[in-house]
Amino acid sequence: MRSRRLIIIGAGVSGLAAAHAAARTAAERELNLEVLVLEKESQAGGKALSLRRSGWLVEAGPGTFLDNEPEFQELLAEAGLSEQRITADVASKHRFLYRDRQLCEIPSHPLRFATSGLLGPLGLLRMGMEPFIPRRSSGAPHSGGDESVWGFAARRLGRQAADRLIAPMILGVYAGDARRLSLPASLPRLAALEEEHGSLIKGMIAKRRAAPERGLSAGPSGEMSSFRDGMQSLPKALAADPRITVRYGATVEALWKEQAPDLEKTGGFRLFIAGDHDPLFADAVIVAGEAWAAADLLQGVAPISAGRLAEIEMPHVAVVALGYDGDALSRVPPGFGVLVPRGQDTRTLGCVWDSYLFPGRSRDGCLLVRAMLGGSVDPDLGGLSDDELSALARRDVTEMLGLEREPVFEERVRWPRAIPQYDLQHSSRIEAVSAELATVPGLFLAGNSLEGVSFARSGVTGRRRGIEAAEWLATAPGA
Ligand SMILES: Cc1cc2nc3c(=O)[nH]c(=O)nc-3n(C[C@H](O)[C@H](O)[C@H](O)COP(=O)(O)OP(=O)(O)OC[C@H]3O[C@@H](n4cnc5c(N)ncnc54)[C@H](O)[C@@H]3O)c2cc1C
Repeated sequence: MRSRRLIIIGAGVSGLAAAHAAARTAAERELNLEVLVLEKESQAGGKALSLRRSGWLVEAGPGTFLDNEPEFQELLAEAGLSEQRITADVASKHRFLYRDRQLCEIPSHPLRFATSGLLGPLGLLRMGMEPFIPRRSSGAPHSGGDESVWGFAARRLGRQAADRLIAPMILGVYAGDARRLSLPASLPRLAALEEEHGSLIKGMIAKRRAAPERGLSAGPSGEMSSFRDGMQSLPKALAADPRITVRYGATVEALWKEQAPDLEKTGGFRLFIAGDHDPLFADAVIVAGEAWAAADLLQGVAPISAGRLAEIEMPHVAVVALGYDGDALSRVPPGFGVLVPRGQDTRTLGCVWDSYLFPGRSRDGCLLVRAMLGGSVDPDLGGLSDDELSALARRDVTEMLGLEREPVFEERVRWPRAIPQYDLQHSSRIEAVSAELATVPGLFLAGNSLEGVSFARSGVTGRRRGIEAAEWLATAPGA
């Protein structure tokens, strides 16, 4: 059999996991496979960008992952990175909300939660009725799509809990608006708790009985983790696999299906790269760029998918890392960070206190805070100049954390199209894209457009598509 070529577009964690998995599967199947990754930027990682700056380690994109996906753990082991994994300090169990100009800890113990003042008496009473609220019937009237995260939270827990607890959490994870995001697509575990147990509280109790060490939590299990040198370590390690080639500075501008000379054959694809005279041929292609990039590329080969991916909103998010010396660290309570509900006179969505999360990422005794701004709730943020953005982040952080000094370090990173928002049409989008892609042999989609926005999930989709592509090439009729 002649050698085959698989081209992967995008060297983020999903594209590189795909490349690595395809090369490994091909070796197992004794398939002669060339694996080529095309990346428009000059380095591996995509959103996973870990910046070392004399004594500070700043995550410009993802800061942590949860180690709760067996396939992701396998990916780490295959990349030789299991040893480099570090887990967040126990201080990170403390989480805060900023309300009425104060940092308020969110207690995990039900009694302490009840007396914390985060919810008023009526809000608490309504939340306590949750086990008696019936399941949503599948035929319930709704907006023609999925139920929103806010709608679900208000229905089960009451409007106060939806506004004060769930909406800020969605800001922190998605930089998104809980009223516009789909529950089954954005928080599938909560949807499953209701489905399986009829109630979130009953579901949490049942899960605690099964695994008492977890405590009472509706959130995903697993340890919050990173790597010693930051999140970019994984894509970098995958890119170093000698069985794959990564070409940087290569922007794929168009993708076309090659017409097969006869019906027995599958054809293949032509890829047009900016600045190259001749197109590249591939027997199979994995598109692992962002939703908008995938939408552009799929226009000629899968137009329905292109249209549905183009609908996905990806708002501007800015990350401003600030470092403080002196007594700043002792002024901030140990914890993961703070989430900010809207209406608190700050534009910052939330801050992560990296000095507590992974000690050693700031200069000795210093405080490193990462503020996130923008998202779908603040579309005007993209129009601010760097100076305005910096002033805004400094003002919010100083006020929220009660700091009295100026930072000694600052790093700003803007992502004009940061995190995909899974809106109320997302379930129908997944169906439409999957149905169309199943009719285009040799074409695969990886990344965070459809199946989950987390770093680990993106890696897992990549790994799955890589295996599928290599398996398909091992069995498909020759081009
Ligand atoms: C600010 C921020 C904070 C986040 N925080 C967390 C977190 O704490 N935990 C977590 O789990 N997740 C977090 N995420 C989400 C997570 O980072 C992403 O979901 C994940 O990294 C996506 O990986 P990917 O490989 O699918 O896509 P990307 O990392 O976006 O990579 C896509 C790659 O494709 C390339 N590309 C696109 N089009 C082309 C083309 N035409 N030709 C060539 N190359 C192309 C791009 O240059 C890019 O390198 C965060 C994201 C952001 C932006």
